[in-house]
Amino acid sequence: MSDDYHKIELIMSLRNRGIRDTRVLAAIERIPREKFINPVFAEQAYADQSLPIECGQTISQPYIVAFMTEKLRLDDRMKVLEVGTGSGYQAAVLSHLCRRVYTIERYRTLLRDAEERFAELRISNITSMAGDGTKGWPSQAPFDRIIVTAAGKTLPPALLEQLRPGGILVAPVDTDSGDQELIRVIAGDDGSYTQESLLPVRFVPLVEGMAKEM
Ligand code: SAH
Repeated sequence: MSDDYHKIELIMSLRNRGIRDTRVLAAIERIPREKFINPVFAEQAYADQSLPIECGQTISQPYIVAFMTEKLRLDDRMKVLEVGTGSGYQAAVLSHLCRRVYTIERYRTLLRDAEERFAELRISNITSMAGDGTKGWPSQAPFDRIIVTAAGKTLPPALLEQLRPGGILVAPVDTDSGDQELIRVIAGDDGSYTQESLLPVRFVPLVEGMAKEM
C-alpha cells in the first residue's frame, strides 16, 4: 500500500482517537513523516507508533504529536519554543501552525539531520540550535508557547520564566510512582500558573547539558 493510503488511515485513526482540530490534522497530513525516519522503518512511517532515531532517541508516536500540538492551541502569530528537536518532525508540524519555531537539541548529529530535512522540505520558519534546552532560549524569550518532548524529573524553572503571560506549556514529567505524565501549564496574566495533568505518556529522558556524540 502507498504512503498516501497509510496517511489517510492514520488521519482517520487520529480523528477516532479524539483529535478534532482540523488545522492540526491538516499539518500532520502535509508533513511527510517518512522523511524523518530511518528508511529501514519506511513501512511503519504512518503507523501510529514511536520509532527509533539516531543517538538512541525516538520520534514520537503521531497521536502524541497531534495531541500535544492540539493542546497548545496555536495560531499563526505565535512564537513557539520546542525542547528536543530529535528528528525534527514535531517542529515541522508546529511550523505550519505558528509564526516561528525555535527548537533546541543536545545532540549535534540529530540537529544537523533535522536541519537538512527542514531545508529539503523548504520550511523556512524554524530556527534551531544545539544546546541544553532545560535553560530555554533566553535571547528569544518570551515565548507564546513551549513544548518539551523529553521527560524531566521536574519542569525546568527557566522554561516557565520564558513563557509569556497567557502562554501555554505542554511537557512530559516524571511522576512520584516512576511513570510519566503529560502536563499542561497555563500562565496567568498575574504571574500565577495553573497546571493540569493530561495523559500518561512515555518519553526519552530530558538530560541536562550537551550530549557526548556517539
Ligand atoms: N520532537 C522530537 C522527539 C525527539 S525525542 C521528534 O519529533 O522527533 C526527544 C529529544 O530530546 C531527543 O532527541 C533528546 O536528545 C532531546 N533532549 C533531551 N534532553 C534535552 C535537553 N536538555 N536539551 C535539548 N534536547 C534534549
